[in-house]
Amino acid sequence: MNINKKKVLYKFIDLQRASSFLMEKQLVRLADSMVNKISSIDDANIDNSTSRLQIFNDEESCLINEYFMKGTITVVDDCVARLPPWLWLIIKPVFIDVEDLRKDIIEYGIHSKEELCNFYKSNASENKYGKDKSSLYLYFATNQDGSNFPIKYRIFPNEYSPIFNKLNGALIQGNFHNHSLYSDGMYSMEELKDFAMKANRSYIGISDHSHYVGGVSSEQLTRQAHEIDLLNRKGGSFLLKGIECEILKDGSLDMDAFTLSILDYVIVACHRHELMTKKEATDRIIRAVENEHSNILAHPLARIYQKKVGMYLDIHKVIDACIANNVAIEINGDPDRLDLPPEYIRYAINHGAMFTIDSDTHKGQSFKNINNAIRIGEDYLIPSEQILNTKLLNELERFFKK
Ligand SMILES: [Zn+2]
Ligand SMILES: [Zn+2]
Repeated sequence: MNINKKKVLYKFIDLQRASSFLMEKQLVRLADSMVNKISSIDDANIDNSTSRLQIFNDEESCLINEYFMKGTITVVDDCVARLPPWLWLIIKPVFIDVEDLRKDIIEYGIHSKEELCNFYKSNASENKYGKDKSSLYLYFATNQDGSNFPIKYRIFPNEYSPIFNKLNGALIQGNFHNHSLYSDGMYSMEELKDFAMKANRSYIGISDHSHYVGGVSSEQLTRQAHEIDLLNRKGGSFLLKGIECEILKDGSLDMDAFTLSILDYVIVACHRHELMTKKEATDRIIRAVENEHSNILAHPLARIYQKKVGMYLDIHKVIDACIANNVAIEINGDPDRLDLPPEYIRYAINHGAMFTIDSDTHKGQSFKNINNAIRIGEDYLIPSEQILNTKLLNELERFFKK
């Protein structure tokens, strides 16, 4: 098959992966049918045939149109071409070594997700990869398709959506996780302030990414802090100085201690290097949580719906460490994250954790993502005294100062 065909093929595989409304069986069926159809296209006509969508049925065309409209086409790496289609749907090459995977399915005659999972549970896998790595691979193979995602809370706000301002009867005073033009946000700090004021909030925290993931350097963060001082001079201390500081691979933070100390609070989070054994990943997060500057652990698993499974953590140990170090645990309302996963909330409540419910504002209507976190908070009955967003400024300061 020529390279163009492969690229087109992958666009459709990715398209199906991105379709949240289809169950896995349908995805596999569609993928197989598309693969057959695309393989039958004459190389010379591949662009014409696929752009006019004549070879696909209504269901497939509908998916493809939706995909092109979103403009989120990503061409999967060529190396995946050597894997069978059922595997493309559950494995992203970044999480499991593709060469290992290819050899395993040939050597052990693996033909389905179930067989692959059984292999990772077997002695053959443990002998080959060791216990830790086998269970890591099992985790990724089991959850890659998003089947563990709390789909009922995955709601994308639009311009007509109201913004919720109460949780279990308590007023939401503000939120902490908002990106500005200083990193990958689309709104200026003034615009973010405006959103918060319109929602009757009494504060809003600015938390841009740190340098490691394309965000602010120490100089830029200091400049941003000055800018916030100037904005606050006009209208009281409405804007809070924060950061979403990257947790590096070893658990250290991607910003010097002095710069962190000029901020009102520090969010810590992972966005890279998720492929770690349970022990490595858990130790990494706990080290970050134990950092004296850390105040909030954002999206603890670092999962993204159908794109990233998230880290393989001993989540109870992580929650215990947050409680011991006065670090609040975020429930991220981004419809693609919904992380901390709701199934762990009961444990965290019972052990006395503090939570933040948050929006992770970047662009569009994402300031209203907090609604998803509020829905989760209401369904799981998080007491308002365990939610940082219900605190007034002076109480917040006390929590952040530890
Ligand atoms: Zn983040
Ligand atoms: Zn963020």
